[in-house]
Amino acid sequence: MRSKVILVVIDGLGWQSGHDGMGYLQGMCAAGYASLHQLRCELPSLSRPLYECILTGVPPVESGIVHNDVVRLSTEQSIFSLARAAGLKTAAAAYHWISELYNRAPYNAVRDRLTDDETLPIQHGLFYHLDHYPDDHLYIDAELLRRRHDPDFLLIHPMGVDDAGHRFGGDSPQYRNAARYNDKLLSQYLPQWLAEGYQVLVSSDHGMNADHTHGGVQPEERLVPLYLLGTRFCHDSTAQLRQTELCGLIASLLGITHDKPDNPAILQTAA
Ligand SMILES: [Zn+2]
Repeated sequence: MRSKVILVVIDGLGWQSGHDGMGYLQGMCAAGYASLHQLRCELPSLSRPLYECILTGVPPVESGIVHNDVVRLSTEQSIFSLARAAGLKTAAAAYHWISELYNRAPYNAVRDRLTDDETLPIQHGLFYHLDHYPDDHLYIDAELLRRRHDPDFLLIHPMGVDDAGHRFGGDSPQYRNAARYNDKLLSQYLPQWLAEGYQVLVSSDHGMNADHTHGGVQPEERLVPLYLLGTRFCHDSTAQLRQTELCGLIASLLGITHDKPDNPAILQTAA
């Protein structure tokens, strides 16, 4: 069975704010349309290493993307390369490090910010390079890509929560409100996505500590939410998932044969 998939990676969204502040997503869970799971992110709890982990299923110490300054293309099979090999269409509205990992490195803003190239792993990209790029603009970018190109796999990657955490700390109203704002933005788009049959995963790379940063093993840095929405999921909120299983799970939803770590128990058995 083949479904279209949207992956939303809300950068820097820790478990507590993702659990407490996202009333729309929680309402979807209460109504049986979604489920919320807790992931313990791989280490180090840093962005670029965990983008690679989420999008390839390979943890940082194995991929070699072990800090944020490793500027090179990924050498792993990614969800983008798997989808392209299967003839599927890919798109991303994301931070420029995603373009560097899967399309071209280093990032050249004039060349890469707006990407439309059928031969690249991410065929349709709208990339940004300032951490305070507004989340509402980013979701509009993503929706524009979705409507214009009808991708099978779409990555949406807002940075506002992480940016608020670095400025004000993980235990701040500004950080928590940035999470709440993402819940509101998702409520503007998710009903349409689900009505069109998309399977949607909303998660994060890592959390944020009270020292305005992340990278280590504190629960605030390491524990992140994973909301699953769509008819292909069984919505068993007791199911345990790992961050390394997201790539394989998405590949399975897309109907791609793969050898990535996966978690088929979270899917409806009819698939
Ligand atoms: Zn950060």
